[in-house]
Amino acid sequence: MIAYHGHMTPTSISFLNKTVFCCTRQQLFCLCILLMFSLNSRGLEIKSPWVQGGMVIGKTNPTHQIRFLSHSVRVNSDGYFVIGLGRDTPKNVVLTEVTSSGQETKHNFSVEQRTYREQRIEGVPKRTVDVPESALTRIRKEVKLTKAARKIDTTRQDFLQEFIWPAKGIISGVYGSRRVYNGQPRRPHFGVDIAAPQGSLVFAPVSGKVVLTHDNMYFSGGTLIVDHGHGVTSTFIHLHKILVKEGDDIKQGDPIAEIGATGRATGPHLDWRMNWFEQRLDPQLLMEGLPNRINN
Ligand SMILES: [Zn+2]
Repeated sequence: MIAYHGHMTPTSISFLNKTVFCCTRQQLFCLCILLMFSLNSRGLEIKSPWVQGGMVIGKTNPTHQIRFLSHSVRVNSDGYFVIGLGRDTPKNVVLTEVTSSGQETKHNFSVEQRTYREQRIEGVPKRTVDVPESALTRIRKEVKLTKAARKIDTTRQDFLQEFIWPAKGIISGVYGSRRVYNGQPRRPHFGVDIAAPQGSLVFAPVSGKVVLTHDNMYFSGGTLIVDHGHGVTSTFIHLHKILVKEGDDIKQGDPIAEIGATGRATGPHLDWRMNWFEQRLDPQLLMEGLPNRINN
């Protein structure tokens, strides 16, 4: 990581020392300006580990621009921003920071590479593995809806909250695993699966706004997408019932759905996915412990 260099010169420090001892109003004002200046020129801070599937929270000068992958990253008025590292993020990534005067700094980071296991699942509905031609139009339409919901970039700050497990149960599937359904290799699994009886409640892991509800998507069945701000969304799938409507503002811990087995599933479970735009994140990296020790 390349540190950003502040602009406090020895001269200004000695001036600062003197100011501390003689406090005329004018000098106090100067001190304030100096302190503000030194805070504002503070470097880039990263508050999370760089790992595949990770949600990385950073802080910088609020007037700076951040670029990562193809995204111009939203920086809030306190300087906070978030980026996401997908399942196959390469080892070396670059985050570009641009000051208000246009000075560009490239920060290099090394991303921890994970190994993903294979999970074989037998007994999912045949039509969800060997997809009939007649279903393709419907599937494309649903993919479009989901993609659009994950593209939005709002000023919400919910992603800065500490996440809680959205359901109680047993983890039956993890992020990133290579999936073989009914003997046939398919796309990797991008969520964390929590197995629990049908009708068990799903709670909002952090606050957010409901951006998509769908009773029955081809692969994901009952599907709910919640915006947590700055491109961070949660997607809950295989739901039996959705208890909220598009446009609803929800608070952390609110009941939002019931667990089901709709779509490509063998039994009732919650599949909780997280995205930073198109990048798939691992919700489990945000959690401590297991969902059976939920405290809400
Ligand atoms: Zn799943």
